[in-house]
Amino acid sequence: EAKQSGRNTYRFFEPAMHASAMRHLQVRQALQQAIEQQQFRLHFQPKYRGASKELTGLEALLRWNHPELGEMAPAEFIPIAERSGQIIAIGDWVLQAVCCQIARWDGAGMKPVKVALNLSPLQMRADLVERIIAMVGAAGIAPQRLMFEITETAAMKDVERTTQVVRELQSLGFDIAIDDFGTGYSSLAYLAQFHCRQVKIDRFFTSRLDLEDHSGRAIVAAIIALAHALQMEVVAEGVETEGQLRELQLLHCDQVQGFLLGRPAEAPTVPGLVNASNDDLFAGGAFRS
Ligand code: C2E
Ligand code: MG
Ligand code: MG
Ligand code: MG
Repeated sequence: EAKQSGRNTYRFFEPAMHASAMRHLQVRQALQQAIEQQQFRLHFQPKYRGASKELTGLEALLRWNHPELGEMAPAEFIPIAERSGQIIAIGDWVLQAVCCQIARWDGAGMKPVKVALNLSPLQMRADLVERIIAMVGAAGIAPQRLMFEITETAAMKDVERTTQVVRELQSLGFDIAIDDFGTGYSSLAYLAQFHCRQVKIDRFFTSRLDLEDHSGRAIVAAIIALAHALQMEVVAEGVETEGQLRELQLLHCDQVQGFLLGRPAEAPTVPGLVNASNDDLFAGGAFRS
C-alpha cells in the first residue's frame, strides 16, 4: 500500500519538478545574454510624504523583457540570479544605470531627487562599497543622491557584514533603508544597531489596514512607534486604497508608496512626476529625505 502510494506521489510530482528545473535553467541561460543585449530596463516608483503630493524620492525597480520568454517579474528571475551568482553583474548594471539616469536628469534640469535601489545580500559579500564608489565617481553623482534598500531578511542573514556595509555607506553619505520590514525574523536590537534612515513596512501589513480586524493596525502602529523612537523614517509600501492612506496618516506614517499614489514608471515620465510635485519639498533641507 505505502509503496504503491509512494510511487504514485513520485509519478505525480516528477513532471512538475522537471518543468520547474527546466525553467530555471532556461532563465539562467537567458540572463547570461540579458545584459549584453540591453534587455534590462529600470522603472521608477515615487515615494510621497503623507497624503500631500510632495515627492520625497524614487525607487528604481528592475524590468526584464526577454525576446521569447516575455516580460518577467523580478520575483522570478532575481532568486535565480542570486543562486547562480549572476546578481553581481546585474546589480552592477542597475547601479550604473541609476547613476547614468540621475546624471541625465540633472543635465536636463530636473529638480534633484533621491533614488533608492535594491541590493541583494550576495552583493554585500563582494567588494560592494568599492564598486559603488567607482560608479558614483564615474557618473559624477554625490552620494546624497542615492539610497540603498536592503531587505530585513537579507540584513539578518549576516548581521556583522550588514552592519559593516551599512556603516561604511552611511559614513560616505549614502542613505540606507530596511525593506520589507516585518516579514523576516525582526530583531529589534539589530534594527537599532543598523540605525538606517528608513524602515519600509512590508505591503502585507499595509494591505491589512483596511480589514475589520484591528491586528493589522496594531502592528503598523508598533513598527512606526519603534522606528520613530530610533529616529528612523517610516515608509509604508503597497498603498492601494484611500482607506489605507487615511489609516497611515492617522498613525503618523512619514511616507507612502503604492499604486494608489504612483505605479513604477519609465524614466521619460519621471520629470513630469517630479515637476508636478510640491515645490517646498527641496526647501529647508527636505532634500535629505
Ligand atoms: P521591493 O523592493 O519591496 O519593491 C516593491 C515591489 O512592490 C515592486 O515589485 C513594486 O512594483 C510593487 N508594488 C509597488 N506598489 C505596489 C502596490 O500598491 N501594490 C502591489 N501589489 N505591488 C506594489 P517588483 O518591481 O516586481 O519587484 C519585486 C521585488 O524584486 C522588489 O521588492 C525587490 O525585492 C526585487 N527587486 C526589484 N528590482 C531589483 C533590483 O534592481 N535589484 C534587486 N536585488 N532586487 C530587485
Ligand atoms: Mg525595495
Ligand atoms: Mg519592499
Ligand atoms: Mg519586496
